[in-house]
Amino acid sequence: MSQTFTITVLPGDGIGPEVTEQAVRVLKEVEALEDVAFQFEYARLGGCAIDEDGTPLPEDTLVKARRSDAVLLGAVGGPKWDNNPAHLRPETGLLGIRKELGLYANLRPAFMLDCMVGVSSLKEEVVKGVDLMVIRELTGGLYFGEKKRYEDAQGEVASDEMIYHEYEIERIVRRAFEVARLRSKQLTSVDKANVLESSRLWRKVVERIAPEYPDVELRHQLVDSCAMELIRYPKQFDTVVTENMFGDILSDEASMLTGSIGMLPSASLADGNFGLYEPVHGSAPDIAGKGVANPTATILSAAMMLRYTFGLEKAADAIETAVHQVLNSGVRTGDIAENKAEAVGTVEMADRIIAAMKEEYVKA
Ligand code: NAD
Repeated sequence: MSQTFTITVLPGDGIGPEVTEQAVRVLKEVEALEDVAFQFEYARLGGCAIDEDGTPLPEDTLVKARRSDAVLLGAVGGPKWDNNPAHLRPETGLLGIRKELGLYANLRPAFMLDCMVGVSSLKEEVVKGVDLMVIRELTGGLYFGEKKRYEDAQGEVASDEMIYHEYEIERIVRRAFEVARLRSKQLTSVDKANVLESSRLWRKVVERIAPEYPDVELRHQLVDSCAMELIRYPKQFDTVVTENMFGDILSDEASMLTGSIGMLPSASLADGNFGLYEPVHGSAPDIAGKGVANPTATILSAAMMLRYTFGLEKAADAIETAVHQVLNSGVRTGDIAENKAEAVGTVEMADRIIAAMKEEYVKA
C-alpha cells in the first residue's frame, strides 16, 4: 500500500507562487513514479498574509504546517511591505515559522556544475568542482536575543543580545557531524572564539562532541578567515557548521561562488524528519508575474524534501540528475543564460526537468 504524506505549500509573495507551482508539479510526477501519495495543503505566509489576515504568520498557517510532514515555501517580501513596522513585515513571518516549528538546522548546499562555470564571477580554476554545504543554526543567537532601544546622555542606543544555550549548539553540531558523515567526512566549525563568549561555548561543545565522530575530520576556523578562504580557495571546504548570523552571511557568500541564486535550494530541519524546504533566493519583485523566474532552486528544494523528510533517495537523485542534464544540454532561464534571446521561461524549464526525470526512471 502506498504511503501518504501531507505537504503544506506556502507560495508567499513575488515569484514564490510561480516557482512553488513548478515544484508541486515535479512532486506530482514523483507520485506517479514511486509508491507514494502527497496531499497538498495551501496556506499564506509573508506579505500576502499581511494583506489577507493582518499578520505575516496566521494561526491557520501554523496549524496546517504542524500537522503536515513537510513544508514547501516559495519566498516572502516585497517593496509594498518594506516600510511596515516590525510585527507587520514579511520576514517576521519567516523568522516566526522557523522558531514555531523548531527548525534549528538550515542546510544550504552550494555546488558548481561544470557547464555553469562561466556564470560565476570568479575564475574557473577557483570555482570548478566546488561542492559544499553550509549548516547554519537557525533559531538562536543574535537574531533571537533581546533587542533594546533607548536613549542615554550621548543619544540613541541600540543593542542586540547574542545568546546560545549549550543544548542549542549541541543539536546543530550533531546534525552537522551526521551530514558530514554522508558527504566527504570533513567538517569545519566556524566561530569567533578569539572575541565572543558565545563562540567560546560553541567551540567547547564542538570539542566535546567530536570524539563521538572519529571518522569525521574536524577543524575550527574564525569567521573572518573563513569568509576570506571561501573566495580564495573554496574547494578546501566540504561541510561547514556555524551559528545563525555567521551562517546567514557565509551561506550567501558560498551561494555566490556558483553564480546564480536561482539555482540553490535549502532545507530547514527540526528534530525527527520534519523539515521546511525553500529556495535560497527571495521573492524577486523585479521579475514577478513575468513567467521568467528560474524554478530550479525550488525544484531542488523539493528534492531535498524527498531525501531528508521522506527518505525517497531515488526520487531525489533522479531530480538532481535531471537538473544537471537539462543544464548540460544548454537549456537556461534568463538569469543564467549567456544568450538571453534563447532563454526559456519558468514553465518550460520545469517541463524539461520533468521530462529528464521521467527518463531517469525508465533507465533505472
Ligand atoms: P532576491 O533573491 O529576491 O533577488 C535578487 C536578484 O536575483 C533579483 O535581480 C532577482 O530578479 C534575481 N532572482 C532571484 N531569484 C530568482 C529566480 N528564481 N530566477 C531568476 N532570477 C532570480 O533578493 P532581493 O532583491 O534582495 O529581495 C527581494 C525581496 O525578497 C525582499 O523583500 C526581501 O526581503 C525578500 N527576501 C525573501 C527571502 C525569503 O523569503 N527567504 C530571502 C531573501 C530575500
